[in-house]
Amino acid sequence: MTDARPAAVLFDMDGTLVDSEKLWTISLSDYATHRGGELSIATREAMVGSNMSTSMRMLLADLDLVADAGAVAEAADWVEARSTELFRQGLPWRPGAREALAGVRSLGIPAALVTSTIRSLAEIALDTLGRDSFDVTVCGDEVDGRNKPDPEPYLRAARLLDVDPRRCVAVEDSPTGVAAAVAAGCTVVAVPCEVPLEPGERRVLLESLDELDVRSLGSLLPGALA
Ligand SMILES: [Mg+2]
Repeated sequence: MTDARPAAVLFDMDGTLVDSEKLWTISLSDYATHRGGELSIATREAMVGSNMSTSMRMLLADLDLVADAGAVAEAADWVEARSTELFRQGLPWRPGAREALAGVRSLGIPAALVTSTIRSLAEIALDTLGRDSFDVTVCGDEVDGRNKPDPEPYLRAARLLDVDPRRCVAVEDSPTGVAAAVAAGCTVVAVPCEVPLEPGERRVLLESLDELDVRSLGSLLPGALA
């Protein structure tokens, strides 16, 4: 008999729990305007799920600007300041996210926040999400540069929780994040927000977290009884 519960549920943040990708689009577009350019839709979509420095390199390249270390740091500071203003104005929940998080908590399943966003901004989002919603939180500036799609953020969360990542369910909205979680060995509940997601190994695609039954999460894991 397979344990009906996952060892933990590992939640992405932007676009998965809160509808913050739209706020990122504003701050990134504002930076492009500030530099006299315009952010392309293709580059914006390619950035979703990436960490700050990777996103800034994409942004500067999109604007035909120099993307050396100094320029990346300057752009990151500007975008962080603008995003901080926007995050402080309030972060809307994604549909069903609040209920999914509460459901995992009520079942006593360990939970982690695994975000590419830096700690200072994630802390603002945690005012909405609730710090007691998670046993551990892993941010984009805490993974030694090994950001999603590298599996390290998910592996780090599993290590901190002392659980086997292959017994964990990750919840993601971006191709970059899904790739990271699958590479870590997790099973993924994939709920698209800004960018479409493709079917593939060890993932279940849902239209919305409203469709998620947290009591049956364990049935998604490899080897679970139907
Ligand atoms: Mg995301």
